[in-house]
Amino acid sequence: MDSGQVLIVGAGIGGLTAALYLHQLGFVVQVYEQTVRTTGDGAGIQLSPNATRVLHQVGLASSLASISSKPSVIDIQHWRTGRRITNIRLASGVEADQSSFPYYHVHRGDLLACLTRAVVDASIPVHRGKRIDNVGVTETQAWISGPDTRENASLVVGADGIHSSVRRSLFDPDEPIFSGHVAWRGIISSKSITSKTLATRAVLWWGPKKHVVHYPVHNGQDINVVCVDRAPHWTNESWTELGDQKELAAAFGDWHDDIAQLIDRINPHFCFRWGLFNHAPLKHWSRGRVTLLGDACHPTLPYLAQGAAMAIEDSAALAQCLKQCGSVEKGLEAYERVRRKRAIRIQRISRRNGHIFHLTGTSAWARNWAAQHMGERILRNVHDYDVFASINRYFKD
Ligand SMILES: Cc1cc2nc3c(=O)[nH]c(=O)nc-3n(C[C@H](O)[C@H](O)[C@H](O)COP(=O)(O)OP(=O)(O)OC[C@H]3O[C@@H](n4cnc5c(N)ncnc54)[C@H](O)[C@@H]3O)c2cc1C
Repeated sequence: MDSGQVLIVGAGIGGLTAALYLHQLGFVVQVYEQTVRTTGDGAGIQLSPNATRVLHQVGLASSLASISSKPSVIDIQHWRTGRRITNIRLASGVEADQSSFPYYHVHRGDLLACLTRAVVDASIPVHRGKRIDNVGVTETQAWISGPDTRENASLVVGADGIHSSVRRSLFDPDEPIFSGHVAWRGIISSKSITSKTLATRAVLWWGPKKHVVHYPVHNGQDINVVCVDRAPHWTNESWTELGDQKELAAAFGDWHDDIAQLIDRINPHFCFRWGLFNHAPLKHWSRGRVTLLGDACHPTLPYLAQGAAMAIEDSAALAQCLKQCGSVEKGLEAYERVRRKRAIRIQRISRRNGHIFHLTGTSAWARNWAAQHMGERILRNVHDYDVFASINRYFKD
């Protein structure tokens, strides 16, 4: 690529991974982040092998292992009786296979701290407390600007999440459509749970028009709980809106005792709920010397646990495509071609899962049968994806 620097807007999971990758491939990178410090806020993240493959490649294998729990299976259970419908083997169950990558449960704050440490160790500048409001672009240059920032670049990467201001600078505003689902989330201390098996297992509970997922984080010290319910309407697409824990308990009042126990232990001051929105795929991710990655270009419903994984895959693809093409224009074209179809497919499967998880009556019965016979195969297809192989295929063809 022509000389000059790459400016990344956003030090989230995607922005930091992209910074590490670009730096590893010899690019000069700087990151601009609106928040002053990495917070421990947030929830659990499931990192599937398609994502850990990329994170290992950038040198994070041991630091990731030190902050993660490694589940071998996820159990799927009946919402009222607790009967196990099936269990799905996750990647660490095939540990003997050296070519496999682990499946991790990790706290978002721990993951961001791990990525930030690696970025600092690589001496990549991260400018915190710098909100970027606008991005400008001509044929030969791009620039970012904010209240106290004006910087030119060879390439600007918008990794600034679901409300991306870089996306707004490039394209017409998108119009997210409320999915009808609202997700509640909380973190519980494992010590507060009397049942050890409840505290240590990863479980997905399917019920009529609702579901719950929980798994350990913070090396098993805490449990991340997400409960998904319906709502007639919603206006604000925010991850940090507080919810009323009593309302949550009432909504799941007729569920199994394990769920009652988990909801009861959520700290009411850290009980969040957010409306889930569908976003139509963008036609393009780039304009001139500006591009997008992660939630900025393909926000994904959480029913396949792949949003962060997609941002991580994007990061590797962007860096590799720029390196192999040697020019921004060709590199960005290759990046979109390698990534856009995959991201749209994952958005679609995630959306469909939201429907499947909530089936009722005989449809639920048929779903349970299918999960027992095909559930693992569907997940394998998503988790075995190798972004590096896709890039190689693209450049061979
Ligand atoms: C509760 C929850 C659970 C989830 N579980 C999973 C899971 O299990 N597995 C999974 O793969 N995905 C999961 N996801 C999705 C995943 O968290 C997101 O897809 C992922 O965080 C996207 O990463 P990103 O880097 O694109 O954006 P973000 O993580 O949103 O990062 C964007 C960054 O940009 C910064 N920023 C924003 N605007 C500006 C600006 N104007 N100027 C400067 N900086 C700016 C923000 O402060 C932030 O640091 C979950 C999401 C939620 C909400």
